[in-house]
Amino acid sequence: MAENSLRVRSGSSGKGHPPSSPDSQPMHAVSAKGTPLKGEPVQIVVATDNHQFELDEEALEQILLRSDVKDKNVAIVSVAGSFRKGKSFLLDFFLRYLSAGGAPDWLGDENAPLEGFSWRGGSERDTTGILMWSEPFIVKTRDGEEIVLLLMDTQGAFDSESTVKDCATIFALSTMISSVQVFNLTQNIQEDDLQHLQLFTEYGRLALEANDNISKPFQALQFLVRDWSFPYEAPYGAAGGRQILEKRLLVSDKQHPELQQIRRHISSCFDKISCYLLPHPGLRVATNPYFDGRLKEIEHDFLEQLQILTPMLLAKENVVLKEMNGQKVQCKEMLEYFKAYIKIYQGEELPEPKSMLQATAEANNLAAVANSKTLYTKLMEEICGGEKPYLNPEALHVEHTRCVERCIDLFHNTRKMGGPEFSQSFEDKLKEDITEAFENFSKHNESKNIFSAARTPAVLFTVVVAFYFMSGIVGVIGLETIGNLFNLVMLVFLLLLVTWFYLRYSGEHRNLSVAIDQLADMLWDNMLSHVYTKLAEQGVKEALRQQGLPVAAGGATPRRQNSWAKKDA
Ligand code: GDP
Ligand code: MG
Repeated sequence: MAENSLRVRSGSSGKGHPPSSPDSQPMHAVSAKGTPLKGEPVQIVVATDNHQFELDEEALEQILLRSDVKDKNVAIVSVAGSFRKGKSFLLDFFLRYLSAGGAPDWLGDENAPLEGFSWRGGSERDTTGILMWSEPFIVKTRDGEEIVLLLMDTQGAFDSESTVKDCATIFALSTMISSVQVFNLTQNIQEDDLQHLQLFTEYGRLALEANDNISKPFQALQFLVRDWSFPYEAPYGAAGGRQILEKRLLVSDKQHPELQQIRRHISSCFDKISCYLLPHPGLRVATNPYFDGRLKEIEHDFLEQLQILTPMLLAKENVVLKEMNGQKVQCKEMLEYFKAYIKIYQGEELPEPKSMLQATAEANNLAAVANSKTLYTKLMEEICGGEKPYLNPEALHVEHTRCVERCIDLFHNTRKMGGPEFSQSFEDKLKEDITEAFENFSKHNESKNIFSAARTPAVLFTVVVAFYFMSGIVGVIGLETIGNLFNLVMLVFLLLLVTWFYLRYSGEHRNLSVAIDQLADMLWDNMLSHVYTKLAEQGVKEALRQQGLPVAAGGATPRRQNSWAKKDA
């Protein structure tokens, strides 16, 4: 066991124990035997029902702003990982160690139940969030500096009610806050543990905006493998842990690039990474519902390793002080960090972490949307894109409907993960995108219409021709005066047409040219467009009839707002 020359005092808790002075209290004076545990677990970060996170500032202030701790440098040890894997159980031993001031007999009475952070059997979870022990431990280091040691427990990762975002937030927050993050695992370090760690640390790094890839955003990471059952391969303890860690975090050229990247990412996030292998604590601990934590019922091997692991993390010569940008942090400053970090996770600016299935399904569906859209564009380009001649709007709509059917078929037939319900929103989005694309195709097509491209001369010319014929007709039936009137109108429009050409050519009197345009627009909107549409419809119907295709009742309206109306109905 490590040398225990540690001085610890637990400050005033308001429970009738006067605060003890570090100087008056020698290191071994406090024995674990009979020393009642001071303090209680306090939930400082709470997940609300709608998966938001809240900080209990008041509770945190009571811990961090206590007069005897607030100006001291702080070390924070956190334990995180899946639920029901003995995190709280372990932390209660840490509490014993710190309460006993690290005395050699800190493990205490073999019949005493284990108290502290609530730990229990069964598979039900506690509320999601972060807990802190209400009593800060003041530790006097060798060079006489008093520092504060805080213990943090995390709850609710990977249970049935936590989303990936919940897990990532809790893990990331506790990693950002702690100086040592104990990543509690069971049986081995597996690939999915590393994947989770990558996701969570990235979520933390994103919040810290420490994406320069030079500075390491977090301090110490301690993998803790529980129930290690291959001591013949790698011995229990730190040496075996190092062996396993080297194997697991090794980056080799033979590995898939994705696996290499995970390993590089994890190594780039922490100043120091280590691993410890703990033996199984015995079946009574794991399975007996009446087990209350007494040492007598815990396997000897487990306790032996616990007596090495605990001082390794908490003894004064090993404790890692919290640092931010290379500067030690005082207790009172931690309060500000807590507030700032929680705010980032409450805000909207961070992307939402997703489960692998969700992320993959989303990628599949997005790819299918993109493919289908490309198909639609390609088909429509062949019909009315680029230099293709003007197509009547009704005919264009018929073509559009045909292309949409093919494109939606393609979307339905593309294999996608996530199920039909998940795909529906992507299909809706695809339809929206197609409608938008169709509007653009329609506009492009419309611009090729002679009446759009050269509306003014076309309209003026049409009026001239119309009045020419009309004056001829009324002349034939003997209405000379009206005929002359028509001729006059014809001449006026002819003059306007010539003037318009001259103004456009010379670029002079632009106001006059605009006025002529407006007159032509007015004539088009109020008269000619209706006649034109009617004629075009007639033409299309005739063409469809000739091809033996059904003709829609009521005809077509060229300026259709929503091209889905017809299909969906
Ligand atoms: P937490 O949800 O991770 O905090 O888990 P708890 O500390 O509440 O412990 C859950 C259960 O695991 C309890 O019944 C403990 O007795 C048991 N337990 C504690 N440590 C270990 C261990 O190292 N191995 C096994 N197999 N069980 C353990
Ligand atoms: Mg727990």
